[in-house]
Amino acid sequence: MKELVLQPGRDRSVRRRHPWVLSGAVASVGDGAEAGDVVRVLSAEGEALGCGDYSPRSNIRVRMLWQGKDEPPEALISQRIAAAIARRAANPELDGVEALRLVNAEADELPGMSADRYGDTIVVRFGTAGMSRRRDEVVAALRDVTGAARGYERADTSAGRREAVAVRQGLLWGEPLPATLEFAEGKRRYSVDIAQGQQTGFYLGQRDGRDLVERLAKGRRVLDLFAYSGGFAVAAAVGGARSVTLVESSADALELARRNLAANAPGIDTRFEHGNAFEFVRQDSGQYDLVTIDPPPLARSRGEVNKAARAYKDVLMSALKRAAPGALLLAFSSSSHVDAGLYRKIAFGAALDAERQVQVLRTLGPAVDYPASIYHPEGASLTGLLLQA
Ligand code: SAH
Repeated sequence: MKELVLQPGRDRSVRRRHPWVLSGAVASVGDGAEAGDVVRVLSAEGEALGCGDYSPRSNIRVRMLWQGKDEPPEALISQRIAAAIARRAANPELDGVEALRLVNAEADELPGMSADRYGDTIVVRFGTAGMSRRRDEVVAALRDVTGAARGYERADTSAGRREAVAVRQGLLWGEPLPATLEFAEGKRRYSVDIAQGQQTGFYLGQRDGRDLVERLAKGRRVLDLFAYSGGFAVAAAVGGARSVTLVESSADALELARRNLAANAPGIDTRFEHGNAFEFVRQDSGQYDLVTIDPPPLARSRGEVNKAARAYKDVLMSALKRAAPGALLLAFSSSSHVDAGLYRKIAFGAALDAERQVQVLRTLGPAVDYPASIYHPEGASLTGLLLQA
């Protein structure tokens, strides 16, 4: 194993079990270390702290796999995949859930990969050279442990660029994918496009939000901003909404949303707006009783936080202006840089500027199959507020 030595005083983070070694913490790396090699991480004083996957091009230079001076077990990766799946199988909250995340990267001590289940199909994504080198082991473990009939690899193109690794996409085992797959989530039915859709086809981590929307929607005029394929809109329709308006910038996503609405609630009053949700809500003159706001991550780095905060605030303020008395708003940030504390301040600013009395009814996070490691705050993928205006 090649050795990577940290700068003096930069061992604290690894000792505190943070899973990343950033480029600025690295003093030297053994000659010839390549992307995807497992390197041993040493303190400046030469103490072995653990080992992890090396990424020479990424600011996250090492993703830790193993803490301490001992060698990791041979079957580490398959064991962790089995453990991740077993934890979810043992969680009663996930009983009968057909579509869920099985492996959530750092949270499951498997940095550089995720795996999702849609019924009998497993979808895996590799985000680092290290993990994609283990493709055969990962695929065998997923197949053995789940017994699923089909496996598919989704390319992670942004990771491919960041890590300069070749990305692959295609069938891993089983029958070829149909154009769309269907799954049921309680009373809701969704079609997903595994090969072309966003993420692995669906925002699985918003399940708690969907359940909440279904419970709250009865008789309400619903506005679903950043609707994607209608995750929330379908939940609202199934829950008995009076009308549902969806706003989404991707034509493909909106087309799937149309199909999902038609399949779940054919009679309901629906309006599909293909366009920019920030502009729509600023200009719209409608009145709504339930608004969901789920933009894409607006801050992808620390440096974008201020700009993102303004955008989150603007859209929430505009939505508050469209909110009928007593309306509910379910608003999210999916940027780890805009966390629960900051998001609450943003909501405060929006309420003040909209001159509305606003109550916080609930705080939300991702569903239990999207955990974050306590040692890795960057892994917190979603924060949300249920507000009443
Ligand atoms: N609520 C959805 C997920 C939303 S993800 C669900 O639970 O399934 C964010 C969505 O916003 C994506 O579908 C993306 O295509 C869309 N989007 C991005 N920028 C947008 C914009 N300016 N206006 C409208 N939609 C936008």
